[in-house]
Amino acid sequence: MSVFRSSRFARLEPYVPGEQPRERKYVKLNTNESPYPPSPAVTEAARAAAEGANLYCDPTALKLRQAAAAVYGVDPACVLPVNGSDEILNFAVMAFCDGRISMACPEISYGFYPVLADLHGIRLRQVPLRGDLTVDYRDYLSRNCTVFIANPNAPTGTVLGLSEIREIAASNPKNVVVIDEAYVDFGAESAIQLTKEFNNLLVTRTFSKSHSLAGARLGFGIGDAGLIADLTAIKDSTNPYNVNAMTQAAGIAAFGDNGYYMDNCRRVAETRDRAAEALKALGFSVTDSKANFLFVRHPDIAGGALYERLRERGILVRHFAVPAIEDYNRVTVGSPEQMETLIGAVREILAPNGRE
Ligand code: PMP
Repeated sequence: MSVFRSSRFARLEPYVPGEQPRERKYVKLNTNESPYPPSPAVTEAARAAAEGANLYCDPTALKLRQAAAAVYGVDPACVLPVNGSDEILNFAVMAFCDGRISMACPEISYGFYPVLADLHGIRLRQVPLRGDLTVDYRDYLSRNCTVFIANPNAPTGTVLGLSEIREIAASNPKNVVVIDEAYVDFGAESAIQLTKEFNNLLVTRTFSKSHSLAGARLGFGIGDAGLIADLTAIKDSTNPYNVNAMTQAAGIAAFGDNGYYMDNCRRVAETRDRAAEALKALGFSVTDSKANFLFVRHPDIAGGALYERLRERGILVRHFAVPAIEDYNRVTVGSPEQMETLIGAVREILAPNGRE
């Protein structure tokens, strides 16, 4: 740390992203990317947009908002495109939390929520999960603070139903409820339609997982036009051109090819369910994930040790060195071939323990 850093940020504990190694080609199952490439129309649109990159992009991202609105079935004024959904989460903390309005989120959830609370000096209540690692929606009723819930939750993959989200939104009318739908396309029900009923409900989406654009950085906030105006004011006060021209073009083209992406999501969900069965047959316990990852634990090998053994074999998964979940690994669902490689490696690793 330099002597120049503001005392406000002296104790900052930044988010640590998953490894993005460049030195070796891994079977990369650690950061929940899609194993499938963007559709050809998307890469072509990004390429064409790059030719005009000497000019600023549209700061209102109007065409992208219109494309998103058509697919999500909402008004364009109810959509804010962002530079990856991490950005909308940051905007939401800035817009809807302060010294009086604290935050609540599940104790085991996306690690960025506590980082944002810390960054902005917001008091955070981390609510324990149930023993089976599911979120109990009753813990979020009448909380009197801004609620953040990932649905499906991460890294567990378990889901809340729409009726539960409805109750959470209805019981917190004076506060914003953020439902982070980063993984919703792989098998959960979206709360987007509920945003028409509840002016305090903000749904966040990302194109990093289901739409094969993690590297392009594109996400969305969807909610009542009032909430979106608040978030847009924050956006325009921090980074007015937050979504670059290539990404705006890629996003429009991806909405135009939505069928391709939904087919990919169905394939990933099928691969997930097959891999879950294969891992259970090897003795793993596996949470009921509706996301594009599995959260797994084996009685005979510690989570950190399995992570290391897989890494030695060129397979990257995600291990969180957090006491409550240190026995687990989160495994992104890749292509069927990648999952076969994973399962073959796991079988080898477990063999000396006689559990093959
Ligand atoms: N929410 C959740 C639950 C996530 O796991 C992630 C991925 N790290 C994000 C949001 C952010 O994704 P991105 O910024 O790539 O859109």
